[in-house]
Amino acid sequence: MTRRFAGPLIIVWIVGALAGSAGADAGQVDALRVHVLDCGSMRGIPTDELLADVPDAPEKIDMVSRCFLVEHPEGRLLWDTGLPDSFKYAMRRIVFSTMSFGRSGIDQGDALPDQLKELGLDEDDIDYLALSHIHWDHAGGANDFADATWIVQEKELEWAFTQRDVERPHVDPDLYAELEHSKKEVLSAADFYHNVLNREYRAPPSFNTDPEQTKRSMDRIEALISKRGAQLWIQHDPTSGPQAPTLAG
Ligand SMILES: [Zn+2]
Repeated sequence: MTRRFAGPLIIVWIVGALAGSAGADAGQVDALRVHVLDCGSMRGIPTDELLADVPDAPEKIDMVSRCFLVEHPEGRLLWDTGLPDSFKYAMRRIVFSTMSFGRSGIDQGDALPDQLKELGLDEDDIDYLALSHIHWDHAGGANDFADATWIVQEKELEWAFTQRDVERPHVDPDLYAELEHSKKEVLSAADFYHNVLNREYRAPPSFNTDPEQTKRSMDRIEALISKRGAQLWIQHDPTSGPQAPTLAG
């Protein structure tokens, strides 16, 4: 039997009005800044599962992978590591084998270490790593940040390394293997959306293990957004959020 991680896909980023693009400084951080990094794009994704309950949904959508560098006086946190290097991935002959779209529609963007360099940083300047979840399109570059403290949900941590014999669509343990020995901080949190239509129609993807649980999570997120007056950036939706990466042709 196929088992999937029971937690929802976490594709939501909630912030106050704090998007910034000022150049980072590898020294002390004196103010909160968020940098939006281009972590790749995927074109022509079939929506039969993603937008299962959305009326008149388009047959395919384009998606982006964004990562976020949060600079805070108490440290730098990297949120997600994007798509894997598709060439290396191809060499292992497991390229996106769980997805029903072709490699031609995928671009992994510039490597994260190179994007950090442009900000005057390198991998060692990242104090904390948080992966929204360990799917291949979010954990693709995780091994580069094994020296950071990984902030992870307890259940996901257990699931990531202890069930190697279980078939897990969308998950490739090799992509985050180096994190097994990293420092870790465990927390409990979860939420999600892939596309503005999931939000508009309160419609979870059909592959979620518990759609009703997902809907309850959506309600809690929406209440939190209202209460805080927060922005919600849907990480995979190119139309949502600031500095949306350009889709690769
Ligand atoms: Zn994703």
